[in-house]
Amino acid sequence: MNIKHTLLVGASLLAMTSCQDNGGSKETTEKKADRKLLDPANLDTTVNPGDNFFMYANGSWLRNNPIPGSETRWGSFNELQENNYNALHALLAEAANDKNAKSGSAAQKVGDMYRTGMDSAAADKAGITPMNGILSRIDGITDANGVLAEVAKAHTEGMGQLFSVAVYPDDKNVTKNIAQFYQGGIGMPDRDYYFNKDARTSAIRDAYQQYLVKMLTLMGSDSTTAKKDAADIYKLETALANASMTRVEMRDPYKLYNKYDLAGLNKLTPGIDWKVMFQNMKLSGQDSCIVGTPKFFQEVARQLKATPLDVWKKYLKFHAVNDIAPYLSKNFSDLQFDFYGKTVRGQQEQKPRWKRVLNVVDGSVGELLGQMYVDKNFKPEAKERMLNLVNNLQQTYADRIKRLDWMSEATKQKALAKLNTFMKKIGYPDKWRDYGKLTIVNNNYVQNVMNASAFEYDYMINKLGKPVDKTEWQMTPPTVNAYYNPAFNEIVFPAGILQYPFFDQDADDAVNYGGIGAVIGHEMTHGFDDQGRQYDADGNLHDWWTPEDATKFNQKAGVVISQFNNYKVLDSVAVNGSLTIGENLADLGGLAIAYEAFKKTKQGQGNEKIDGFTPDQRFFLSWAQVWRANTRPEEMASRIITDPHSPNEWRCNGPLSNMPEFYQAFNIQPTAKMYRPDSLKAKVW
Ligand SMILES: [Zn+2]
Repeated sequence: MNIKHTLLVGASLLAMTSCQDNGGSKETTEKKADRKLLDPANLDTTVNPGDNFFMYANGSWLRNNPIPGSETRWGSFNELQENNYNALHALLAEAANDKNAKSGSAAQKVGDMYRTGMDSAAADKAGITPMNGILSRIDGITDANGVLAEVAKAHTEGMGQLFSVAVYPDDKNVTKNIAQFYQGGIGMPDRDYYFNKDARTSAIRDAYQQYLVKMLTLMGSDSTTAKKDAADIYKLETALANASMTRVEMRDPYKLYNKYDLAGLNKLTPGIDWKVMFQNMKLSGQDSCIVGTPKFFQEVARQLKATPLDVWKKYLKFHAVNDIAPYLSKNFSDLQFDFYGKTVRGQQEQKPRWKRVLNVVDGSVGELLGQMYVDKNFKPEAKERMLNLVNNLQQTYADRIKRLDWMSEATKQKALAKLNTFMKKIGYPDKWRDYGKLTIVNNNYVQNVMNASAFEYDYMINKLGKPVDKTEWQMTPPTVNAYYNPAFNEIVFPAGILQYPFFDQDADDAVNYGGIGAVIGHEMTHGFDDQGRQYDADGNLHDWWTPEDATKFNQKAGVVISQFNNYKVLDSVAVNGSLTIGENLADLGGLAIAYEAFKKTKQGQGNEKIDGFTPDQRFFLSWAQVWRANTRPEEMASRIITDPHSPNEWRCNGPLSNMPEFYQAFNIQPTAKMYRPDSLKAKVW
């Protein structure tokens, strides 16, 4: 399975920050002297730290920093992102203005991608015409096999019609890459949107049906036809959603591991000829694949017979345009934003065009832009310092595993073996991707986006039949995020996250350990969360636990699940403890490991106050400020359904209320709202 346990999801996937430290100029030095790494002015000291530490640590900041109209969340990350956007903006402008860039060079590809993206006049003039080829291809379909051929063709063009396909190591033999098929094909962000009964979700469901009508009208239908077609498309999507697995079900890697050969696949989905499908998807020569969600594909086969051809054609056309809408003329991109940005997430206005295009450059030729970024903005010393921190945390984690009172010696040995074989990637890849075969033209943005998508598809399927390449990265260097990948048993920290508030050369250890230290611990703990623990040191899905230890782990995880189920977020909406269990375990373990590692430092062993706070208090304040953010209620509700991470306030407070060291640092009493008696304090790792 393609599990990639990240620190965050969503907008932050393409979120970036810059390294402000650009060589110690006078201006930079002065800024540094002025800067307070933990600014007491951000606190709200009218809040009792034990009632809500997130508000205590960040309350004044939250009040003084409302969310800009173009954002759905605004926090410490975003402040950095702004600087990073500006740094990348300068690189893009330079590349776009480079008249001497050789055709096919990095500067030409990055520059032309950006310049064509910025040409809104050309996009407005073209209207829907860039889609004409695909739309008339769909018009020409005459039967169900034609529908499947179109879906296959769209995949080779990098557009994920109807289902998703990926090439990843086989979970039970990770030295071999294999094609993997998963559910897809719906227009709302999750299958739950089609069925949840609460008022918020019902309203979004209504708006989506209206959106279908509006988009079909904009594509040229009259209003009566658009209404009828919208209802048909919605009905088809609802059937697909109904056969889809929930996100909680998909946390079980064994449920997703269903291996089929071609004969088995044909039998699973009568009417779909997978030999032809494989040929059309450029997968010929593959004799087997993994189907993550078999029930979904059975439903596809059923609907190919039950749903009229005409509806399928409308469905394919809508989804083709819906996918490309952000790159089309203003009327299309505005309409698309109105539903997915404004209605679903509460975003009031689109981000400025240059930021949107910048995100597309990062998502398409990200390692070309990333190379330019690290050349100017990343210092090798940071890599060295980070590696030291990672090694400290790894050693501390090992000590903690040895001391665990609930785990047998046999399982401990296996856990330590796994911990000691973590592969560590820091900053940027040792080997950059080759974009030689990607053509970026100087006059057609939609064409460039499609070329990049098709290039990505070819890159992906070319991995089949080749040895698994463990040097690959799944995030670009400027990304403010980190991940653990169970198949590679690796922890990965892009250059973008190795900055304040996570990491700062000048900060005291309390700040760095409460920030990047907890992030490192978080990613390491993913190797041992509800999913990660099921993979062994080699990355294979293989049970290395004694049954007693597994039972004890599940009991302990159960305590954390109920803890988070009880956090009410807004209206009647609560955190989904089962969906967020992996991330909550990673936060809890990560913070505890980072704290223990911090206590080995000179500052951790001393008692010297800075700005009136003890070293321990500064450690916990640093943790809290990493998560400071205002979030729109729509964004919050959307994330409760789709995001495996808990909302920031509870990510901050949840782990703290399990830590005796936090209670001690801030003298938390049983009357405090965050107080949990010892019997309910969760400790796993
Ligand atoms: Zn995570």
